[in-house]
Amino acid sequence: MKRDEPVLAGVELGGTKCVCLMGTGPGDIREQTTLATGTDPQATLERIDRILKGWQDVHGPAQALGIASFGPLNLTRGSPGYGCITSTVKPGWSQTDVLGRLAGGRVARVGFDTDVNGAALAEQRWGAARGLGDFAYVTVGTGVGVGLVVRARPVVGLHHTELGHIRVARLPGDDWPGICRYHLDCVEGLASGPAIAARTGLPPAQIPSDSPAWDLAAHALAQLLHTVVLATAPRRILVGGGVMEARPELLSRIRTRLRASLNGYLGLDEVTEGIDRYVVPPGLGPQAGPLGALALAADAWSSADSQQRKPPDA
Ligand code: ZN
Repeated sequence: MKRDEPVLAGVELGGTKCVCLMGTGPGDIREQTTLATGTDPQATLERIDRILKGWQDVHGPAQALGIASFGPLNLTRGSPGYGCITSTVKPGWSQTDVLGRLAGGRVARVGFDTDVNGAALAEQRWGAARGLGDFAYVTVGTGVGVGLVVRARPVVGLHHTELGHIRVARLPGDDWPGICRYHLDCVEGLASGPAIAARTGLPPAQIPSDSPAWDLAAHALAQLLHTVVLATAPRRILVGGGVMEARPELLSRIRTRLRASLNGYLGLDEVTEGIDRYVVPPGLGPQAGPLGALALAADAWSSADSQQRKPPDA
C-alpha cells in the first residue's frame, strides 16, 4: 500500500453505468463499486454521494476528487453552467449540475473533465501513453469518443473536442443511414456498439466475426484515425472501449485500413511497418475509464500542490 501518496476519490459517470472508486492508483484501489446510470439524474447522483460519504466514514476524507463524465459538458470555468452536462441525448440528464452535486463542499481539490479525457490522462499517468505529451485515446462503446492530448493536456477551446461525431468517407455501395440523432452517419452513428447492432439487427455478442458489419465499422474508425493522425500528429493512438474489449480482432482491421487510407503519405514507419506499435490497446484495459476519474483527482491534487509551493509574489 502506497501510504505516501494522496488518497483520491473518483467517479466515472458513464451513459449506462457509473463507477466510484477510492485509492492512490492502479496498484492500490481500496474501494470500487459500479451502479447503473438511471434516467433520474438526481437519484443517481444521490446514490453516488452516499457511496462516497460511506467510504469517507471508513477511510477518512479523500484528498482530491475526480469526476469523469459523459457529455457534452460545460468545461468553461467561470461560466454559469460550468460543471454541467449540456445537451446530452440521454433522457433526463440535460443541464444536470454534476460537479455542483458531487463536489459541493466535500473536498477542496476537484478535477472535472469528460470520461474520454480522463481515460486518456490515466493512460498517460499509468498506462500505454506514459511519457507521451501528444497522443490520442479512442473509445468505441456505447458511443465513440476521443481524448485528444496535445502538449500533455486534453484539447479544449470553445468546447471539448467531439471527434466521434466527425463525418467520414463512406465505402462505395454502403448507403446504410447510420443512427446518430444529430448527424446520422458520423463515426458514432456508424461504428458505436448500438450502431453495429442496429445495422445487423443482432446484439453485438451474437454478430458473427465474419459479418461485413465489422469491416464497415473498422472502415469508419480508420477514417477517424486518419483525421486524428493528420490533425494533431499524435505519437501513439490507443483504441479501447467495450466494443474493442469484446472484439479485439477489430484492432488489426483498423490498422490495415488506416495504413491503406494514409497510403504512404507521411512516409513514417509508425503508420506503415510499425503500425502495430502505433495503434495499440489501452495499457489499463477496461480500468482506463474508472482510473480516468482518479487521474483527474491526481491532477487536481498536484496542480493545487504546485500552486501552494509557488512564492507569494510569483
Ligand atoms: Zn454524430
